[in-house]
Amino acid sequence: MGFYLGILGAGESGIGTALLAKANGYEVFVSDKGSIKEKYKQVLIQHEIEFEEGKHSEEKILNANLIMKSPGIPDKADLVKQIRAKGIPVISEIEFASRFTNAILVGITGSNGKTTTASLTHHLLKQELEVGLAGNIGESFAKQILDKDYPNYVLEISSFQLDDIESFKPHIAVLLNITPDHLDRYDYQFENYIASKFRIAENQTAEDYLIYDADDEVITTWLEAHPVQSTLIPFSLKKTIENGAFLDNNNTIIITVDNNQITMSAANLALEGKHNIKNAMAASTVAHLLKIRKQTIRESLENFQGVEHRLENVLKINKVQYINDSKATNVNATYYALDSMDGPTVWIVGGQDKGNNYQELFQFVNEKVKAIICLGVDNQKLMENFGNMVDTIVETQFMSEAVKIAYKIAESGDSVLLSPACASFDLFENYEDRGRQFKDAVRNL
Ligand code: ADP
Repeated sequence: MGFYLGILGAGESGIGTALLAKANGYEVFVSDKGSIKEKYKQVLIQHEIEFEEGKHSEEKILNANLIMKSPGIPDKADLVKQIRAKGIPVISEIEFASRFTNAILVGITGSNGKTTTASLTHHLLKQELEVGLAGNIGESFAKQILDKDYPNYVLEISSFQLDDIESFKPHIAVLLNITPDHLDRYDYQFENYIASKFRIAENQTAEDYLIYDADDEVITTWLEAHPVQSTLIPFSLKKTIENGAFLDNNNTIIITVDNNQITMSAANLALEGKHNIKNAMAASTVAHLLKIRKQTIRESLENFQGVEHRLENVLKINKVQYINDSKATNVNATYYALDSMDGPTVWIVGGQDKGNNYQELFQFVNEKVKAIICLGVDNQKLMENFGNMVDTIVETQFMSEAVKIAYKIAESGDSVLLSPACASFDLFENYEDRGRQFKDAVRNL
């Protein structure tokens, strides 16, 4: 082989990259240590792209001129270390794909709220623009560039994708929040993770925008110490912002960019919860910057259907609302879920603990939670943390049982909330599986 691109990981982003690269004349070799899904294998065969599964052939990979690494593969993997030691550039799919489009890119990152905000932003923009939704959602960015080549994209971007960029530059970047997550991939240094998130702005110039949460001290402190070139657009729930977005005392969202103002009532938002006011501010600011009509923005915020597994209303049974927030895989996400409960709550929590510190939840639990059902391998820690705060705390290893217990305890006007604050891999395949099992159990009541 001459110049060639090695692709590590044959998931959605790996396959998309392989196809885009092949179409642009690259020699491509795809390598996956696990097994490759049948549908992806068929695509590779059909496009005559060389691949292997169940192993990484080092001699081959170490001869590549460029490596695209899927975000799931950590830097500490031996092979990745060897690749870097040889000086072979390693890039992410977002980096590779963005080299093949002139589209306007909106990049959305943060520890929590990425999928919700990216989906909402896409919903606002698609009313008036041709726009793709990619990144960690749905069909890969690379594949969409190859097939559809939209003039605009909204990209949900994880820190792992940002770790391997070089020239990737969104015209509008959104940084929703930064709380400790995935620290195992960052040498347990929060600074490394913060720096990774801020790479979303590293190639921006003054013509580009960075929309960020001005109430998030991690973000503001970092920005003071590490200024960026981008035009800054802060949003806040707590203070007046002249150039940016804020919530005034009448519960009105006011967004001002380039001397152009839009206002809307927070009470009319389809998505509930304080965190969703923030997400809506960020999404609407993007739409406003891209000149979506004000009335369109207002209407679209009101009719957005939400995203599955994120504070998703499942059913009301005997005047008890069942809510699926399975995607809350860390404490901060659950903080916002509990914050948005307006009445007594039966809380189903637990899973695989990630070194959680539950302290920030104590106040809400004292105020709103009447019973706790611990569901997972790390129930002991939950019992120790919350045992003396509520009258009822029980534990189980089965979703159907958890839901049945909740049903028995909950009374008219209560909510039953699944918001685990933990990873799902102990009892479930992933958070989607956990959420679906919850919904099935509720429907079977
Ligand atoms: P991500 O894609 O970043 O994981 P999601 O939109 O899937 O984020 O939401 C994940 C969880 O975080 C959900 O449980 C949701 O209720 C909560 N969440 C959503 N937006 C925010 C936010 N702005 N701040 C904190 N938590 C949020």
